[in-house]
Amino acid sequence: MTPRIALIAHDKKKDDMVALAGEFRAFLQGCWLVATGTTGARLINELGLTVERKQSGPWGGDLQIGTLLVEGGIDAVVFLRDPMTPQPHEPDINALVRACDVHNVACATNVASARLLLAQLRSQQNV
Ligand code: PGA
Repeated sequence: MTPRIALIAHDKKKDDMVALAGEFRAFLQGCWLVATGTTGARLINELGLTVERKQSGPWGGDLQIGTLLVEGGIDAVVFLRDPMTPQPHEPDINALVRACDVHNVACATNVASARLLLAQLRSQQNV
């Protein structure tokens, strides 16, 4: 089954997200991807990935992805949060991470854990 992966990065983490997705580009091309608006635009423009773009995070994109997740439409989340910068949509961020915990969906919030998660999903596709 095609993995369905959500990709979200706060502004200071977007370069990290593009680099990470570039590392896993071949794998991600075979996945169904959804992202918040600006993150998605960078993945499309810089890596040529096919991504369903939701609203930007501060405009409700995290909530849209959360809704999809609650409905069973997402298998894993890579959410590169910026722990050093206050975010106006902090409640939305917490709601999405909470929804991952409620529904037992894998959620990586930093590059190290995201690498492990994506590598594991990729290895499952190869078996
Ligand atoms: P963005 O949203 O990808 O549209 O910047 C991410 C966020 O800030 O949650």
